[in-house]
Amino acid sequence: MARGNPAPSPARRRPAGAAKAAERARVEEIFARLAAANPEPKSELEYANPFTLLVAVVLSAQATDAGVNKATRALFALADTPARMAALGEAALAEKIRTIGLYRTKAKNVVALSQALIHDYGGEVPDDREALEALPGVGRKTANVVLNVAFGEPTLAVDTHVFRVANRIPLAKGSTPRAVEDGLVKIIPARFMRHAHHWLILHGRYVCKARAPSCARCVIADLCRYEDKTV
Ligand code: SF4
Repeated sequence: MARGNPAPSPARRRPAGAAKAAERARVEEIFARLAAANPEPKSELEYANPFTLLVAVVLSAQATDAGVNKATRALFALADTPARMAALGEAALAEKIRTIGLYRTKAKNVVALSQALIHDYGGEVPDDREALEALPGVGRKTANVVLNVAFGEPTLAVDTHVFRVANRIPLAKGSTPRAVEDGLVKIIPARFMRHAHHWLILHGRYVCKARAPSCARCVIADLCRYEDKTV
């Protein structure tokens, strides 16, 4: 008699395979609909070049994009390169961004990262994750946004909106941003990866909101398994 677990019969294998195929089709359809609703999603942070994008993303930690844009319009008119930002200096920068949370720490980091870009990268923003994450104030999320938005790489930054939406629909459940990022990268079809980050952020910000999701006008409501959908 054979030892161990018997191989599942074809009849038992089919439902698991069918369930996986159905889940793949569900994820595909979710992104197809988000893409159809907004074919070319854009970052809501205002920036003029990779450097100002990097600075805007660093400033956006625990702040709204609208709040960051309000402060950076005047700031970037004065300092839109690492050399100009370093020359502006920490005190003057802090004054320009004092409406943004944690502005003192952020001013310190932005000046330090500007100096690092001048010294190590000839004043350019590197298109390399390791190099980006080594800059002061730059973590995985910021590096993912810069790689995606400035350099067109298929990275996926998990912010509060992406984290909530991914767990809620669900697309990829996880208790940490990194777990959700890894789960999403595994399931999102390659052709949607370039814009997946923005589709999920915008969906979370304007439709699948934290307190009261607008399920009645949600284009993926029939594909969502959230138990507390609003009618
Ligand atoms: S149906 Fe509601 S909970 Fe589900 S994704 Fe849409 S807005 Fe979010």
